[in-house]
Amino acid sequence: MDMNTIEAVVPTTDPAEWRDGDAWLAGGTVLFSYGSYAFGPEPLKRLLDLGSAGWTPITVTDAGIELASTCTVAELYALPASPDLSRRDWPGLDLIRPCCDSFVASFKVWNMSTVGGNVCTALPAGPMTSLCAGLDAEATILGPGGASRTVPVTDLVTGDGTNGLARGELLRSIHVPASALASRVAFRRLSLSNLGRSGVLLIGRLDGGTSLVLTVTASTKRPVQLRFGHLPEAAELAAALGDAIPEDLYHNDIHGLPAWRRDMTYRLADEIRAELAAPEGSPDVNVSGDFWPPEARNSTRASRHTSGRSPQQEGA
Ligand SMILES: Cc1cc2nc3c(=O)[nH]c(=O)nc-3n(C[C@H](O)[C@H](O)[C@H](O)COP(=O)(O)OP(=O)(O)OC[C@H]3O[C@@H](n4cnc5c(N)ncnc54)[C@H](O)[C@@H]3O)c2cc1C
Repeated sequence: MDMNTIEAVVPTTDPAEWRDGDAWLAGGTVLFSYGSYAFGPEPLKRLLDLGSAGWTPITVTDAGIELASTCTVAELYALPASPDLSRRDWPGLDLIRPCCDSFVASFKVWNMSTVGGNVCTALPAGPMTSLCAGLDAEATILGPGGASRTVPVTDLVTGDGTNGLARGELLRSIHVPASALASRVAFRRLSLSNLGRSGVLLIGRLDGGTSLVLTVTASTKRPVQLRFGHLPEAAELAAALGDAIPEDLYHNDIHGLPAWRRDMTYRLADEIRAELAAPEGSPDVNVSGDFWPPEARNSTRASRHTSGRSPQQEGA
């Protein structure tokens, strides 16, 4: 570990134990990469280690899916093939693997990094943020003295590297509601380079077969969600994007200029609109970008990875 300011690693899940100079430690792929001084002017002194929390990574019920914050990307990737889900008609599950695959990660990151760590890190290209926001997931957050609150993941990520957690608060879990999982979905992602970090990642949902929910991530500094009581025409969708996303909300870094991210947001949003307007499985749909249509989650659909394992799982 390359953090020479750490005086103690404390196994705990109790926010009451948190004090200045502490950081929650999940997979450690950010903490150990960025180092002790990346999180403020004062160096980190202790790591509060969630590694022995013992939380069940994934719980499936009729109400939806509960993800412990400590659920790893690898565990989430395995979920669509789980027998627990074989009797559920949840098209929203099709988003899980494309979102995991958007995490252009090494073998170590794939197997160690966590859903909660990704959301709390709050990078615009955080694919777990995209997935959870796109499915209207709610985060449960613990504070000292048994305090607990819930907040939509869409609102928890507030900017590039910023989140709505108060000092010492702990993200315990994320609930993905069955109502969103039951909707037809569409996904688009673009990167400037092959297997590069996402520059634009959009998720569409058709609630009740009629109402579009569009979630914009990666191109913007924080998630932006548009809700329509119907399926809009192209011009209405473009106008709504213009109203919802001011120019300075488009992200600007080495993974894409704001003007490109803006243009691709409009383009992918319209592809999603057209896909969800067409009958399911229609061949006349434009798909720009990677990882869509999804890998089969049952034998009736075509499989993108013949081995059924992602490149990351295979040690790429
Ligand atoms: C090679 C490489 C590629 C990467 N690619 C991407 C990418 O494409 N997209 C992307 O978004 N990130 C990427 N990352 C960054 C990082 O790996 C991910 O964001 C990862 O998901 C972080 O999860 P973690 O569990 O390792 O977090 P950690 O490093 O353990 O923690 C990260 C931050 O979140 C806080 N935290 C963790 N869990 C909680 C919790 N439950 N409650 C409150 N705070 C918490 C920690 O205190 C810390 O501030 C990459 C990193 C590397 C090294």
